[in-house]
Parts: sequence; C-alpha cells; structure tokens
Amino acid sequence: MQGARNGKKPHVVIVGFGFGGLEAARALRGAPVEITLVDRTNHHLFQPLLYQVATAGLSVPAIAAPIRFLFRRQPNVTTLPGVSPAAKQMGRHAARMILRRLRGEPTQPFRCRDYGNLATIGRNSALVDLATPVGPLRFSGLPAWLFWLFAHIYSLIGFRNRIVVLIDWASAYWSSQRYARVVSGIEPKNGAPR
Ligand SMILES: Cc1cc2nc3c(=O)[nH]c(=O)nc-3n(C[C@H](O)[C@H](O)[C@H](O)COP(=O)(O)OP(=O)(O)OC[C@H]3O[C@@H](n4cnc5c(N)ncnc54)[C@H](O)[C@@H]3O)c2cc1C
Repeated sequence: MQGARNGKKPHVVIVGFGFGGLEAARALRGAPVEITLVDRTNHHLFQPLLYQVATAGLSVPAIAAPIRFLFRRQPNVTTLPGVSPAAKQMGRHAARMILRRLRGEPTQPFRCRDYGNLATIGRNSALVDLATPVGPLRFSGLPAWLFWLFAHIYSLIGFRNRIVVLIDWASAYWSSQRYARVVSGIEPKNGAPR
C-alpha cells in the first residue's frame, strides 16, 4: 500500500485473484482507496468445481469469470492485463525504479500503455487492433495474419529461434501439415476403458 502519507488515496495492490483476492477487493468497495489487481490469468477460477470440468460435467467458462467483468461496477478497481505487452512494460518499469532507488531518487507510479491487440483466427485470417496516437488502426484478413505472424516471430527470443519458427511455419503453410504430432501408444491397464 502506498500514497497515504503524501495526501493521495492509498493505493492497494492485490496480487493473486483467487477467493482471497476477490473477497479483499469486494470488501474495499466504496472505500477511499485505489485498488490494482494483478494475476497471472485474467479470470477468477472457482477451483472447487474443477473436478466437474475435468469429467466433462461442466464447461470451463462456467467456472472461470473474467476479472474485468466481475469489477465492471467497482470504479476504484483497475486490473493489469495478463498479456505480454503489459508484462514487458511492468518489467521495464521495475528496472527503472530500481535504478532510481539506487540513485536515491523517488519512485514513480506505473502507467500501463495499451498498444492494442492481435488475434489469429486461422490460416490467412487474423484481427489487428492497434492503438496509435491518431486513433485506433484496425484491419483483418491476410494483411492482419501476416502482421500477427511477423510480430510474433520478431518477439521470439534468439535469432536462431526466429529462423527455425519461420521455416517451420512456412513449411506448414505450403504443405498444410502440422509440425507437431501427438502419438499415444499407452495401453490401458486392468481392462480400463480407453
Ligand atoms: C480441485 C480443487 C478442489 C477444491 N475443492 C474445495 C472445496 O470443495 N471446498 C473448499 O473449501 N476448498 C476447496 N478447494 C480449495 C480452495 O479452492 C482454495 O482453498 C482457495 O482457492 C484458496 O484461495 P486463495 O485465494 O488463497 O488462492 P487461489 O484461489 O488459488 O488463488 C490464487 C491466485 O493467485 C494467482 N497467482 C498465483 N501465483 C501468481 C503469481 N506468481 N503472479 C500472479 N498471480 C499469481 C493465481 O492465478 C490465482 O488466481 C479446492 C481446490 C482445488 C484445486
């Protein structure tokens, strides 16, 4: 928690949005605090019903509620998205703040910048929604698919990995064959059903 001493609203950071985090954020509804929720996922998972999902008695969406949806009517809650652009910004900010502390300078609040979203749908099909200084830039279809593809190859760590993935994807594209195969040769024990 920070901010209480310099006259600003206290800033509460809740790490982990399970039952504990959910109850803490709800209990602070209407309180004079700013809450930031951080989780490695973007949903709350109702774990006691996982068995039912595992045995196909329930679907996954029935027990996973998006965090933003849960807090759509609680204005003092902000969620940090569990996506790589936000994680990279957080990492860079943390490093900058460490350097400021080493120099004896005060730390600064983190502001997450929304660069937009990329989503692939299938072969030659994707959606691009970029946040630019002059407004949103949106396109779809083959250009969006190529943009998605090169953005991900560029983001891969290591030159060799980029080349390997580029060759694998090019080969998969021209041959219509997937690179990975899942082969299961495990025989069931004691006559258990397969
Ligand atoms: C299969 C199953 C069945 C259960 N059945 C029951 C039951 O019938 N009755 C009962 O009372 N209890 C049951 N429990 C236990 C109950 O779900 C837990 O006690 C409860 O979820 C604990 O709540 P929590 O908030 O402490 O942690 P969790 O609900 O586990 O939440 C932790 C959150 O922290 C996030 N997180 C973890 N690490 C990080 C990280 N490094 N960075 C960011 N976020 C992170 C996770 O994504 C998660 O959202 C069950 C648990 C399981 C797994």
